[in-house]
Amino acid sequence: LASRDFHPDSTIVDVDGVQIGGGNVVVMAGPCSVENRDQLLESAFAVKEAGAQILRGGAFKPRTSPYAFNGLGEEGLKLLAEARELTGLKIVTELMDLENLDLVAKYTDIIQIGARNMQNFPLLRELGKINKPVMLKRGLSATIEEWLMAAEYVLSGGNKDVILCERGIRTFETATRNTLDLNAVPVVRRLSHLPVIVDPSHGTGVAAYVPAMSKAGIAVGSDGLMIEMHPNPAKALSDGAQSLTIPQFHALMQEIKALTAAL
Ligand code: PEP
Ligand code: MN
Repeated sequence: LASRDFHPDSTIVDVDGVQIGGGNVVVMAGPCSVENRDQLLESAFAVKEAGAQILRGGAFKPRTSPYAFNGLGEEGLKLLAEARELTGLKIVTELMDLENLDLVAKYTDIIQIGARNMQNFPLLRELGKINKPVMLKRGLSATIEEWLMAAEYVLSGGNKDVILCERGIRTFETATRNTLDLNAVPVVRRLSHLPVIVDPSHGTGVAAYVPAMSKAGIAVGSDGLMIEMHPNPAKALSDGAQSLTIPQFHALMQEIKALTAAL
């Protein structure tokens, strides 16, 4: 069902009026984690003002250490809903387990499935039964075929609104957190009709490299970008090193607009 042979036309996922796929470049941006009301609302207004369409922010965080900040849970979801109310932005946030599916689905416009859960097959099967767009991030060491098969789990349950997100893979390289596999964009585009977006923040792990790889993502034909930004990256509770400041995000959005206007 994910294959372009089966479905020659590119799928456009309609997120309550925001179309993802079919050549549009949609920008999702916001902090890695929802930390508190001020942090989220300041981010949300900046995302809106810069001209992006979707606000990101994690309320359930998959952290390497169990002692690290694990997210605000439902309180974070409520803050995201408030930010949507105030700005008109759509929301994308991560769901980590079956237990919280109904809760997360109640608040968000797009359910993000993180790299660590890309092959959580029971979770993917349940997502197939709901009527809500799913953004499936590529697993840390997943091949493109495994990633498309994971999408197949959702599609085969009847949910056609799957967005893929390339977020970098594990390689031997240590200068960056991950290696952003931009090959994946044209490969996925040829093999599948599903929209594919690029996450240069997790793909590099370094804020200084995010603008270049954002523009590269657009150049290779992605349907959008997911970018982490924070009002004060040095104080961020997660992923500060890869988060743009608000002025940096504004500057990048100007470049993105110039680039997409030229496409
Ligand atoms: C995130 O988007 O903050 C995140 C945890 O991403 P990934 O699952 O790609 O590591
Ligand atoms: Mn993050």
